[in-house]
Amino acid sequence: MDRLTTPVLRADEAVLRANIAAVSTRVDPATLMMVVKDDGYGLGAAWAARVAVDAGVAWIGTYDIPTAVQLRAEVGARPRLFAWVTSTDDEIAAALHSHVDLGVGSIDYLERVIVQADATGFRARIHLKVDTGLHRNGLSADEWDEGIRIALDAQHRGMIDLVGAWSHLAEASDAEDDAAQERFRAAVGRAQEVGAELPELHLTASAATWARPELRGSLVRVGAFCFGIRSADGPDLPGIEPAAELVATVSEVRDGEAIIGIGSFDGLPSLLGGRVNVGTPAGARRLLRLDATSAAVQAWPGSSPGDEVVLFGRGRSGEETPTTLAEAIGTVGEEILCRLTPRVHREYR
Ligand SMILES: *Cc1c(COP(=O)(O)O)cnc(C)c1O
Repeated sequence: MDRLTTPVLRADEAVLRANIAAVSTRVDPATLMMVVKDDGYGLGAAWAARVAVDAGVAWIGTYDIPTAVQLRAEVGARPRLFAWVTSTDDEIAAALHSHVDLGVGSIDYLERVIVQADATGFRARIHLKVDTGLHRNGLSADEWDEGIRIALDAQHRGMIDLVGAWSHLAEASDAEDDAAQERFRAAVGRAQEVGAELPELHLTASAATWARPELRGSLVRVGAFCFGIRSADGPDLPGIEPAAELVATVSEVRDGEAIIGIGSFDGLPSLLGGRVNVGTPAGARRLLRLDATSAAVQAWPGSSPGDEVVLFGRGRSGEETPTTLAEAIGTVGEEILCRLTPRVHREYR
Protein backbone atom coordinates (compact mmCIF):
# COMPACT_ATOMS: atom_id res chain seq x y z
CA MET A 1 0.00 0.00 0.00
CA ASP A 2 2.92 2.36 0.67
CA ARG A 3 3.78 2.26 -2.98
CA LEU A 4 0.38 3.62 -3.87
CA THR A 5 1.29 7.06 -2.63
CA THR A 6 5.01 7.16 -3.43
CA PRO A 7 5.89 8.77 -6.74
CA VAL A 8 8.34 6.78 -8.87
CA LEU A 9 10.99 7.88 -11.35
CA ARG A 10 11.32 4.89 -13.67
CA ALA A 11 14.63 4.89 -15.47
CA ASP A 12 14.82 2.67 -18.53
CA GLU A 13 18.14 1.03 -19.34
CA ALA A 14 17.13 0.19 -22.92
CA VAL A 15 16.35 3.84 -23.65
CA LEU A 16 19.60 5.06 -22.08
CA ARG A 17 21.50 2.53 -24.20
CA ALA A 18 19.67 3.59 -27.36
CA ASN A 19 20.45 7.26 -26.65
CA ILE A 20 24.12 6.45 -26.03
CA ALA A 21 24.22 4.52 -29.32
CA ALA A 22 22.57 7.41 -31.20
CA VAL A 23 25.04 9.95 -29.77
CA SER A 24 28.06 7.68 -30.34
CA THR A 25 27.10 7.06 -33.95
CA ARG A 26 26.49 10.72 -34.59
CA VAL A 27 29.84 11.88 -33.16
CA ASP A 28 32.02 9.20 -34.75
CA PRO A 29 35.06 9.43 -35.06
CA ALA A 30 35.03 11.55 -31.87
CA THR A 31 34.73 9.61 -28.61
CA LEU A 32 31.81 10.11 -26.25
CA MET A 33 32.53 11.24 -22.70
CA MET A 34 29.17 10.74 -21.00
CA VAL A 35 28.54 13.37 -18.34
CA VAL A 36 26.66 12.10 -15.27
CA LYS A 37 26.73 15.20 -13.09
CA ASP A 38 23.87 16.09 -10.71
CA ASP A 39 23.52 12.41 -9.82
CA GLY A 40 23.12 11.43 -13.44
CA TYR A 41 20.66 14.26 -14.18
CA GLY A 42 18.49 12.95 -11.33
CA LEU A 43 18.38 9.35 -12.56
CA GLY A 44 21.32 8.05 -10.50
CA ALA A 45 24.97 8.50 -11.47
CA ALA A 46 26.04 4.99 -10.45
CA TRP A 47 23.29 3.34 -12.48
CA ALA A 48 23.96 5.54 -15.50
CA ALA A 49 27.71 4.97 -15.37
CA ARG A 50 27.31 1.19 -15.09
CA VAL A 51 24.93 1.10 -18.06
CA ALA A 52 27.24 3.37 -20.08
CA VAL A 53 30.39 1.37 -19.42
CA ASP A 54 28.54 -1.84 -20.19
CA ALA A 55 27.50 -0.23 -23.49
CA GLY A 56 31.14 0.48 -24.30
CA VAL A 57 31.46 4.11 -23.16
CA ALA A 58 35.14 4.69 -22.36
CA TRP A 59 34.93 8.10 -20.67
CA ILE A 60 32.64 9.30 -17.86
CA GLY A 61 32.54 12.94 -16.74
CA THR A 62 31.32 13.77 -13.25
CA TYR A 63 31.93 17.46 -12.46
CA ASP A 64 33.03 16.77 -8.83
CA ILE A 65 35.74 14.47 -7.49
CA PRO A 66 33.72 12.60 -4.80
CA THR A 67 31.32 11.32 -7.47
CA ALA A 68 34.25 10.22 -9.66
CA VAL A 69 35.84 8.38 -6.73
CA GLN A 70 32.54 6.65 -5.96
CA LEU A 71 32.11 5.68 -9.62
CA ARG A 72 35.64 4.23 -9.80
CA ALA A 73 34.38 1.60 -7.35
CA GLU A 74 31.26 1.05 -9.50
CA VAL A 75 32.81 0.78 -12.95
CA GLY A 76 36.22 -0.78 -12.30
CA ALA A 77 39.67 0.31 -13.35
CA ARG A 78 39.36 0.70 -17.11
CA PRO A 79 37.04 3.58 -17.98
CA ARG A 80 38.52 7.06 -17.80
CA LEU A 81 36.82 9.29 -15.25
CA PHE A 82 37.06 13.06 -15.61
CA ALA A 83 36.27 15.56 -12.81
CA TRP A 84 36.71 19.23 -13.53
CA VAL A 85 35.52 21.37 -10.64
CA THR A 86 38.29 23.07 -8.64
CA SER A 87 38.60 21.02 -5.43
CA THR A 88 40.31 20.78 -2.06
CA ASP A 89 43.73 19.18 -1.60
CA ASP A 90 42.13 16.18 0.14
CA GLU A 91 39.85 15.63 -2.82
CA ILE A 92 42.75 15.97 -5.25
CA ALA A 93 44.61 13.25 -3.32
CA ALA A 94 41.53 11.02 -3.39
CA ALA A 95 41.20 11.59 -7.16
CA LEU A 96 44.81 10.57 -7.74
CA HIS A 97 44.35 7.38 -5.69
CA SER A 98 41.34 6.52 -7.87
CA HIS A 99 43.05 7.43 -11.17
CA VAL A 100 40.61 10.21 -11.95
CA ASP A 101 41.62 12.62 -14.74
CA LEU A 102 41.45 16.22 -13.55
CA GLY A 103 40.22 19.26 -15.40
CA VAL A 104 42.42 22.14 -14.29
CA GLY A 105 41.31 25.72 -14.88
CA SER A 106 43.72 27.90 -12.89
CA ILE A 107 47.44 28.16 -12.18
CA ASP A 108 46.75 27.86 -8.45
CA TYR A 109 44.84 24.61 -8.92
CA LEU A 110 47.53 23.29 -11.27
CA GLU A 111 50.17 23.93 -8.62
CA ARG A 112 48.07 22.27 -5.92
CA VAL A 113 47.56 19.19 -8.11
CA ILE A 114 51.33 18.97 -8.69
CA VAL A 115 51.96 19.16 -4.92
CA GLN A 116 49.46 16.35 -4.28
CA ALA A 117 50.96 14.22 -7.05
CA ASP A 118 54.37 14.68 -5.46
CA ALA A 119 53.00 13.89 -1.98
CA THR A 120 50.98 10.81 -2.95
CA GLY A 121 53.35 9.37 -5.55
CA PHE A 122 50.51 9.07 -8.08
CA ARG A 123 51.08 10.68 -11.47
CA ALA A 124 48.21 13.11 -12.11
CA ARG A 125 46.48 13.09 -15.52
CA ILE A 126 45.65 16.68 -16.34
CA HIS A 127 43.44 18.38 -18.91
CA LEU A 128 44.26 22.09 -18.90
CA LYS A 129 41.30 24.39 -19.47
CA VAL A 130 41.41 27.40 -21.76
CA ASP A 131 39.06 30.28 -21.02
CA THR A 132 37.59 30.82 -24.49
CA GLY A 133 35.18 33.57 -23.47
CA LEU A 134 32.71 32.08 -21.01
CA HIS A 135 34.79 33.38 -18.07
CA ARG A 136 33.71 30.40 -16.02
CA ASN A 137 37.04 28.97 -14.89
CA GLY A 138 39.92 28.40 -17.34
CA LEU A 139 43.34 29.94 -18.02
CA SER A 140 43.16 33.26 -19.82
CA ALA A 141 45.29 33.92 -22.90
CA ASP A 142 47.72 35.77 -20.58
CA GLU A 143 48.09 32.80 -18.23
CA TRP A 144 48.10 30.01 -20.79
CA ASP A 145 51.81 29.97 -21.71
CA GLU A 146 52.80 29.99 -18.04
CA GLY A 147 50.34 27.18 -17.28
CA ILE A 148 51.75 25.07 -20.12
CA ARG A 149 55.31 25.78 -18.93
CA ILE A 150 54.47 24.70 -15.35
CA ALA A 151 52.64 21.60 -16.59
CA LEU A 152 55.44 20.52 -18.94
CA ASP A 153 58.01 21.07 -16.22
CA ALA A 154 55.98 18.88 -13.80
CA GLN A 155 55.60 16.31 -16.57
CA HIS A 156 59.38 16.18 -17.07
CA ARG A 157 59.75 15.64 -13.32
CA GLY A 158 57.33 12.68 -13.56
CA MET A 159 54.52 14.17 -11.49
CA ILE A 160 51.85 14.70 -14.10
CA ASP A 161 50.83 13.76 -17.60
CA LEU A 162 49.41 16.66 -19.56
CA VAL A 163 46.86 14.60 -21.49
CA GLY A 164 44.60 17.25 -22.91
CA ALA A 165 43.25 20.73 -23.38
CA TRP A 166 39.60 21.65 -23.11
CA SER A 167 37.09 24.44 -22.79
CA HIS A 168 33.35 25.01 -22.50
CA LEU A 169 31.16 26.86 -24.98
CA ALA A 170 28.35 29.33 -24.32
CA GLU A 171 26.17 27.63 -26.98
CA ALA A 172 24.37 30.97 -27.32
CA SER A 173 25.21 31.62 -30.96
CA ASP A 174 27.23 29.90 -33.67
CA ALA A 175 29.35 33.03 -34.13
CA GLU A 176 30.35 33.12 -30.44
CA ASP A 177 31.12 29.40 -30.46
CA ASP A 178 33.22 29.82 -33.62
CA ALA A 179 35.20 32.63 -31.96
CA ALA A 180 35.68 30.44 -28.87
CA GLN A 181 36.97 27.61 -31.04
CA GLU A 182 39.47 30.00 -32.67
CA ARG A 183 40.81 30.97 -29.23
CA PHE A 184 40.96 27.31 -28.27
CA ARG A 185 42.89 26.37 -31.43
CA ALA A 186 45.33 29.24 -30.90
CA ALA A 187 46.03 28.11 -27.32
CA VAL A 188 46.47 24.47 -28.38
CA GLY A 189 48.82 25.57 -31.17
CA ARG A 190 51.00 27.56 -28.77
CA ALA A 191 51.18 24.61 -26.38
CA GLN A 192 52.17 22.23 -29.18
CA GLU A 193 54.91 24.63 -30.33
CA VAL A 194 56.62 24.25 -26.95
CA GLY A 195 56.32 20.47 -26.95
CA ALA A 196 52.92 19.65 -25.38
CA GLU A 197 51.31 16.62 -27.05
CA LEU A 198 47.69 17.07 -25.89
CA PRO A 199 46.16 13.86 -27.29
CA GLU A 200 42.72 14.76 -25.88
CA LEU A 201 40.97 17.93 -27.02
CA HIS A 202 37.38 18.69 -25.99
CA LEU A 203 35.14 21.68 -26.29
CA THR A 204 31.49 20.71 -26.79
CA ALA A 205 28.51 19.68 -24.63
CA SER A 206 25.22 18.23 -25.94
CA ALA A 207 23.88 20.95 -28.23
CA ALA A 208 27.12 21.92 -29.99
CA THR A 209 28.25 18.28 -30.16
CA TRP A 210 25.05 17.32 -31.92
CA ALA A 211 24.70 20.22 -34.32
CA ARG A 212 28.27 21.43 -34.97
CA PRO A 213 30.54 18.56 -36.08
CA GLU A 214 33.30 21.05 -36.90
CA LEU A 215 33.57 21.94 -33.19
CA ARG A 216 34.06 18.36 -31.97
CA GLY A 217 37.47 17.38 -30.66
CA SER A 218 38.85 13.91 -29.90
CA LEU A 219 36.24 13.82 -27.10
CA VAL A 220 32.76 15.28 -26.76
CA ARG A 221 31.21 15.81 -23.31
CA VAL A 222 27.52 14.89 -23.53
CA GLY A 223 25.13 14.68 -20.59
CA ALA A 224 21.61 15.91 -21.33
CA PHE A 225 21.15 14.25 -24.73
CA CYS A 226 22.30 10.84 -23.40
CA PHE A 227 19.51 11.08 -20.83
CA GLY A 228 17.04 12.13 -23.52
CA ILE A 229 16.76 15.75 -22.42
CA ARG A 230 16.64 17.93 -25.53
CA SER A 231 17.54 21.63 -25.36
CA ALA A 232 14.76 24.03 -24.33
CA ASP A 233 13.42 25.64 -27.52
CA GLY A 234 15.66 23.26 -29.43
CA PRO A 235 14.72 20.69 -32.07
CA ASP A 236 13.56 17.11 -31.52
CA LEU A 237 16.46 14.71 -31.80
CA PRO A 238 16.14 11.60 -33.97
CA GLY A 239 16.91 8.47 -31.94
CA ILE A 240 16.86 10.28 -28.59
CA GLU A 241 14.07 9.81 -26.02
CA PRO A 242 13.67 10.61 -22.32
CA ALA A 243 15.39 7.82 -20.38
CA ALA A 244 13.01 8.12 -17.42
CA GLU A 245 9.34 8.65 -16.75
CA LEU A 246 7.82 10.11 -13.59
CA VAL A 247 4.75 8.25 -12.38
CA ALA A 248 2.25 9.07 -9.61
CA THR A 249 -0.82 7.16 -8.51
CA VAL A 250 -4.43 8.29 -8.25
CA SER A 251 -5.54 8.37 -4.61
CA GLU A 252 -9.12 9.55 -5.13
CA VAL A 253 -11.48 10.84 -7.80
CA ARG A 254 -13.95 13.61 -7.02
CA ASP A 255 -15.74 16.43 -8.83
CA GLY A 256 -14.19 15.56 -12.19
CA GLU A 257 -10.67 15.59 -10.75
CA ALA A 258 -8.26 12.70 -10.25
CA ILE A 259 -6.02 13.47 -7.26
CA ILE A 260 -2.50 12.07 -7.52
CA GLY A 261 0.18 11.60 -4.87
CA ILE A 262 2.87 13.98 -6.05
CA GLY A 263 3.39 17.67 -5.39
CA SER A 264 5.84 20.52 -5.18
CA PHE A 265 7.39 18.93 -2.04
CA ASP A 266 8.60 16.18 -4.36
CA GLY A 267 10.44 18.77 -6.41
CA LEU A 268 8.00 19.54 -9.20
CA PRO A 269 7.53 23.30 -9.74
CA SER A 270 4.00 24.30 -8.66
CA LEU A 271 3.92 26.65 -11.67
CA LEU A 272 3.29 23.58 -13.86
CA GLY A 273 -0.31 23.46 -12.52
CA GLY A 274 -2.70 24.56 -15.26
CA ARG A 275 0.06 24.82 -17.86
CA VAL A 276 0.79 21.28 -19.11
CA ASN A 277 -0.76 17.94 -19.97
CA VAL A 278 0.09 14.65 -18.30
CA GLY A 279 -0.37 11.03 -19.42
CA THR A 280 -3.28 8.91 -18.19
CA PRO A 281 -4.73 5.50 -19.15
CA ALA A 282 -7.06 7.47 -21.45
CA GLY A 283 -4.33 9.65 -22.97
CA ALA A 284 -3.36 13.27 -22.38
CA ARG A 285 -5.26 15.20 -19.69
CA ARG A 286 -4.71 18.63 -18.16
CA LEU A 287 -2.70 18.97 -14.99
CA LEU A 288 -5.12 21.31 -13.21
CA ARG A 289 -3.21 22.13 -10.00
CA LEU A 290 0.01 21.20 -8.30
CA ASP A 291 -0.13 21.62 -4.53
CA ALA A 292 2.46 20.75 -1.88
CA THR A 293 1.83 17.02 -1.57
CA SER A 294 -0.79 16.29 -4.23
CA ALA A 295 -1.91 17.37 -7.65
CA ALA A 296 -5.21 17.40 -9.54
CA VAL A 297 -5.62 16.03 -13.04
CA GLN A 298 -8.70 16.36 -15.24
CA ALA A 299 -10.53 13.04 -14.68
CA TRP A 300 -11.13 10.54 -17.49
CA PRO A 301 -13.93 8.01 -17.97
CA GLY A 302 -13.40 5.20 -15.48
CA SER A 303 -10.60 6.95 -13.59
CA SER A 304 -10.15 5.31 -10.21
CA PRO A 305 -7.72 5.03 -7.29
CA GLY A 306 -4.63 3.08 -8.21
CA ASP A 307 -4.50 4.33 -11.83
CA GLU A 308 -1.12 5.60 -12.92
CA VAL A 309 -0.54 9.12 -14.17
CA VAL A 310 2.68 9.90 -16.04
CA LEU A 311 3.98 13.41 -15.31
CA PHE A 312 6.67 13.25 -18.00
CA GLY A 313 8.17 10.56 -20.17
CA ARG A 314 8.35 9.33 -23.72
CA GLY A 315 4.72 10.13 -24.53
CA ARG A 316 3.37 6.61 -24.42
CA SER A 317 0.36 7.71 -22.31
CA GLY A 318 0.11 11.15 -23.85
CA GLU A 319 2.56 12.78 -21.44
CA GLU A 320 5.08 15.46 -22.41
CA THR A 321 8.86 15.28 -22.17
CA PRO A 322 10.75 16.97 -19.30
CA THR A 323 11.87 19.70 -21.69
CA THR A 324 8.32 20.40 -22.88
CA LEU A 325 7.24 20.83 -19.24
CA ALA A 326 10.24 23.07 -18.66
CA GLU A 327 9.40 25.23 -21.68
CA ALA A 328 5.92 25.86 -20.23
CA ILE A 329 7.51 27.62 -17.26
CA GLY A 330 10.59 29.12 -18.88
CA THR A 331 13.29 26.76 -17.67
CA VAL A 332 15.29 23.78 -18.97
CA GLY A 333 14.53 20.05 -18.85
CA GLU A 334 17.51 19.36 -16.58
CA GLU A 335 15.86 21.40 -13.84
CA ILE A 336 12.66 19.34 -13.94
CA LEU A 337 14.68 16.15 -13.35
CA CYS A 338 17.37 17.42 -11.00
CA ARG A 339 14.94 19.01 -8.55
CA LEU A 340 13.14 15.73 -7.80
CA THR A 341 13.70 14.94 -4.12
CA PRO A 342 14.87 11.66 -2.57
CA ARG A 343 11.25 10.84 -1.63
CA VAL A 344 10.67 10.12 -5.31
CA HIS A 345 11.51 6.44 -5.51
CA ARG A 346 14.03 5.53 -8.24
CA GLU A 347 13.21 2.34 -10.12
CA TYR A 348 15.41 0.80 -12.79
CA ARG A 349 14.28 -1.37 -15.69
C1 LIG B 1 27.25 19.96 -17.83
C2 LIG B 1 28.48 19.99 -18.63
C3 LIG B 1 28.58 19.25 -19.80
C4 LIG B 1 27.43 18.45 -20.35
O1 LIG B 1 26.41 19.35 -20.74
P1 LIG B 1 25.09 18.82 -21.46
O2 LIG B 1 24.50 20.02 -22.09
O3 LIG B 1 24.25 18.25 -20.38
O4 LIG B 1 25.51 17.79 -22.43
C5 LIG B 1 29.78 19.26 -20.49
N1 LIG B 1 30.82 19.96 -20.05
C6 LIG B 1 30.77 20.71 -18.93
C7 LIG B 1 31.97 21.47 -18.51
C8 LIG B 1 29.59 20.75 -18.19
O5 LIG B 1 29.54 21.49 -17.08
